Amino acid sequence: MGVITGMGLAECGEMSSLQSTVPLVGVERSTQSAFARWKANAQCPACGSDACAGRAGLPDRNYTFGSEHVTYPEQGIALVECGGCGLYYKSALPTPQFLASVFRREAQTKWASSHDFLPEAALLRKLCGGAPFDLLDVGAGDGRLLWACGQVGLTGRRSAFDVMHYQGIERHLTGEFIEGFLDDPLPAWSQERYDIVTLFDVLEHLYDPGQAFENLRCLLREGGLVFIETGDSASFWPRRIGINHWWYARLLEHHVFWRRRSIAQIAAAHGFRIVYWREVRHKSRRQLIPQRTVIDSLKTGIYLASKNHYASIAQSIGRQGMQPWYPFAVDHFQACLVKE
Ligand SMILES: [Zn+2]
Repeated sequence: MGVITGMGLAECGEMSSLQSTVPLVGVERSTQSAFARWKANAQCPACGSDACAGRAGLPDRNYTFGSEHVTYPEQGIALVECGGCGLYYKSALPTPQFLASVFRREAQTKWASSHDFLPEAALLRKLCGGAPFDLLDVGAGDGRLLWACGQVGLTGRRSAFDVMHYQGIERHLTGEFIEGFLDDPLPAWSQERYDIVTLFDVLEHLYDPGQAFENLRCLLREGGLVFIETGDSASFWPRRIGINHWWYARLLEHHVFWRRRSIAQIAAAHGFRIVYWREVRHKSRRQLIPQRTVIDSLKTGIYLASKNHYASIAQSIGRQGMQPWYPFAVDHFQACLVKE
């Protein structure tokens, strides 16, 4: 992946000729930032294939992140379906430096979690056969999952891996805090391997999934488990409305979109095997509040009747809107992989 050149919404197969002939037109610089904002993704970041099974442009011109609007590169952004492993990936990604600069301004408020993780902690206990286990939670945020494990009576080391320290994480730790990105080479850590590594809403953020899975192999003991929750690109809702219209794909910080086939392929390539798979709603929609469900259903009706005008309808009543939450959309999966 290199700094973006002329690559945009070209059809499959046109990418390499465009890259060699079009000058640097997509690099945006602002008075606040001296680094490139966008990088081109010319091949599948999971399997390395440049085969393309489909391509669809995001319908917008900018992302909204917290209070900020981030304008797309001039050529737009496309979702590419890998012809090798079925992963969907974006044709252009924000550079890590640019994304980090946006996160620093917005993340503490944006990702303050309200989900309690008690059902997930109970599920982890079941998957581990009720025995105590050492847990590393990647993307641990303020430590809600570590807290929940204590609440359901689980014992063992409780560690966190995250790109930054969130307020309150320390009080839930009985192990270590590893600071860094899962898809960079591993930073210093205890070298005491874990029984289970959890990745709730992490896998969609990866720039380099291969490096992440190598790191997971290092962090886990033989027979250890990786527990994943992320969006499911093969589920009904993105197929119904089009992957490029899926709310989940229209977020600045989401780079790759998985399904069972793409998980199975990268798992096998790194010595893992799928032992559990379940389709679920997003965690914030699992306990539905009736009033909110009615409102979300109405919004979804408006959206389906007038997809292209939804944003302007929302603006006319003083709201921002690109796509409503369909309250019954089962558009995520949970997967458990065992290290072989
Ligand atoms: Zn692939």
